[in-house]
Amino acid sequence: MTGIVLDRMEVEEAGANPDKLASAIHDQLKASPGPVPVEAIAMALDIVEIRVEPLSNFEGALVTTLDRNTGQILVNARSRPQRRRFTIAHELGHFLNPRHAPTGPNGFACSRDDLRASPAGGRNGGSDRHRRQEAEANAFAIELLAPRRWLRPYVSGVADLAQVIALSDAFEISREAGVRRYVECHRQALAVVFSHDGRVVYGAPGREFPRLALGKDTKVPDLPMPSEGTFLSDAEEADPAQWLFGSKTVALSVQTLHQQGGWALTLLCAEDAEEDDGIEDTVERLSRFDR
Ligand SMILES: [Zn+2]
Repeated sequence: MTGIVLDRMEVEEAGANPDKLASAIHDQLKASPGPVPVEAIAMALDIVEIRVEPLSNFEGALVTTLDRNTGQILVNARSRPQRRRFTIAHELGHFLNPRHAPTGPNGFACSRDDLRASPAGGRNGGSDRHRRQEAEANAFAIELLAPRRWLRPYVSGVADLAQVIALSDAFEISREAGVRRYVECHRQALAVVFSHDGRVVYGAPGREFPRLALGKDTKVPDLPMPSEGTFLSDAEEADPAQWLFGSKTVALSVQTLHQQGGWALTLLCAEDAEEDDGIEDTVERLSRFDR
């Protein structure tokens, strides 16, 4: 973990764009694909201490001054190591971004919800500015931990949660972060729905995905069961009406990774079904004609 030298001024020349900031770090690192040494990177960029402590209201915090000379990062000891890596990267994103304004007198304090914020995400509380900052810190974190330049082998072909597991393991990120990255970078129209005990926790649709009909705490439709001896199901066809708002022309497949404690992560893939409908319509018209 030692021996990383980074030029902070050069990194910060990238400006406020989170992707560019993270890319500027990778341009200097020149590392090979694999787990990114996030703690060493933070320490090479004027983070003087990373403390792991049990936290209850927050997942992480950045203690810093207005001039951002140095900073200290606090991460939740109750979270798994993969999640802690993401939190450290997120706080580093606040630290390096010149446009981010502290959320408290000593810096930034970030909740579990903040660490899920996405630019397209819903309007569940918080000011727009706060939400934008959190989404940007998340964008920075994932581009630092699973940079686009390394993703091609994991996001090719037909969408499959097996690839998500491989990607998450390869970069030591949580399955949650891994699947969200996958949805973002895969060419197909994808979304992920996280659920607990059969209720929706939240959904994260990709840019091309039709509108999800499931709000927080609503019951999830029946999920495909795992294949024998695994936690992972096959991708199965699903009724779009159960998952989406008015999308008759969409063919939907769902695949679920069942996790411990009643948690599940479901990948949805939407495909244009207009051609199929065309055939069905023709058949229907012909049969009507027969009568
Ligand atoms: Zn934050």
